[in-house]
Amino acid sequence: AEDVRAPVSLPPFPAPAMDGYALRSADASEQPPHAYTCIGVSSAGHPFTGDVPPGHCVRIFTGATVPADLDAVAIQEDCDVSDHSVRVNELIRAGDNIREVGQDVHAGACIAQQGDVIGPFEIAWFTACGLTSIPVQIRPKVALLSTGDELIEPGRPLAMGQIYDSNRAALKALLQDLPIELVDLGVIPDNPKATATALDQAAATSDLIMTTGGVSVGDADHVKAAVEERGELLLWRLNLKPGKPLAFGRIGRAHFLGLPGNPVSTIVTALLLARPLLLHLAGAAPATVLRIKAALGGTIRHRPGREEYQRGTLIADGERVRVTVTGDQSSNRLASFRSANCLIRIPADAADLQDGSLVEVLPFRGVLGPTR
Ligand code: AMP
Ligand code: MG
Repeated sequence: AEDVRAPVSLPPFPAPAMDGYALRSADASEQPPHAYTCIGVSSAGHPFTGDVPPGHCVRIFTGATVPADLDAVAIQEDCDVSDHSVRVNELIRAGDNIREVGQDVHAGACIAQQGDVIGPFEIAWFTACGLTSIPVQIRPKVALLSTGDELIEPGRPLAMGQIYDSNRAALKALLQDLPIELVDLGVIPDNPKATATALDQAAATSDLIMTTGGVSVGDADHVKAAVEERGELLLWRLNLKPGKPLAFGRIGRAHFLGLPGNPVSTIVTALLLARPLLLHLAGAAPATVLRIKAALGGTIRHRPGREEYQRGTLIADGERVRVTVTGDQSSNRLASFRSANCLIRIPADAADLQDGSLVEVLPFRGVLGPTR
């Protein structure tokens, strides 16, 4: 919710990068070897606190503090030692093998910006700086609903005409890493009254209502009309394949996002639209999606019109990256995600794409964005 500044410097004290002998570089003659007398030990958590006269050195180990006035560490592999005599066989310069105070970060410097999503790396850094809490945004509440009289929960046998509701499970998995609070409100039956009741209830308790299905032009598609009646429909239908029947608006204080019902369309629009929207609502700064160019293996048929995203398999092929389409791309076919690791973007105005042509590819890892 706010920029985070380091309360301490890291490292907080000059630290050796290697095990060896801490010394004063001014004591070393121009050319090695240099002779020193060892007068003590500085080990991790146990600093050497005595004075170090000219020509003397201190045995030192990683994790320890470099004693004041000493400005270099000779690594032990470069030294011959007998009793307290240390002969350093390599040239020594000030700063050698020492991590200065603040080398990683200086006290007061920014270590996270407002809008950053906190992940394992941020937690490591915050903790290394001794922070025990930081201000964060409240997670938006997201109500998740499926629509359709044909849908049942897995665990029961299918009766004629029924299918299992896979969209809610897919969305839960697709959104589980986001900084949101997901509330599963189940399935809305295909009738106007039940749709109205469910949407009102969701609007009263959430920041965003996310539905799947029921936003096409069929007689059983009641969601769009219900949103228009009780709120505002700001957008309906996108020039996108899959994902054309998509609706966006609001009911009361809650945003409304109606994703298409076909399982592939649900997943693709969740990746491209729902995730960035939810991250925005959660206060995250916009993230750049990784887009790379790959050589297409095979052809893609495309009539100019809609921007299209097909599922592909991206592989390293010597110096190049190659991408192939994962078979039939129909919007009901979850099989198109098998062995897919990316989306292939086909621009709206593109005609058929030829074998070997360069296409734009969005690796799933990049699309999944800043929560890593
Ligand atoms: P609709 O937009 O409601 O007409 O749904 C389009 C297609 O997606 C239909 O074949 C539905 O049976 C299917 N579908 C809708 N919702 C789900 C869901 N939650 N899980 C699986 N398939 C669904
Ligand atoms: Mg339906």
